[in-house]
Amino acid sequence: MEEAVVNVKKAAGRAVAAVRQEQCTGCGICVSVCPVPCIEIVDSGMNFTGTASVIKELCTGCNFCAIDCPWEAIVMLHPDGSEKRLDRYGKQVKKLRGYA
Ligand code: SF4
Ligand code: SF4
Repeated sequence: MEEAVVNVKKAAGRAVAAVRQEQCTGCGICVSVCPVPCIEIVDSGMNFTGTASVIKELCTGCNFCAIDCPWEAIVMLHPDGSEKRLDRYGKQVKKLRGYA
C-alpha cells in the first residue's frame, strides 16, 4: 500500500493541522518539523515571504507543527471543525521553546 494512502487512513477521524493565514509569518519552522512532510510555503498576499499551507490528506495529526509554530498560527482541527487543544506535553514543549 502506498504511503500516501496509509496516511489518509490514519488521518481519518482525527484532528489535522490548519493554518491561520493572518498569523503566519512564513518563517518555515513548521515545514522543517513536519515528518511527512505535508506543509509547504506558498505565495500569499498576506506578506512578502508567503504563508504555510497544509496538504490535509497527508497530515497524520502528529501535532509537531502546532507545537513548534512560534506565532500560534497552526491549530489542530477535528473533522467537525472544532479545535483540539494542545495537551500537557505540547504546552510544556512550547514553554521550553520560549513560545509560551
Ligand atoms: S511555523 Fe507558524 S508562522 Fe512559521 S510558517 Fe509555519 S505556520 Fe507560519
Ligand atoms: S500535524 Fe504533523 S503531519 Fe500534520 S502538518 Fe503538522 S507536523 Fe505535519
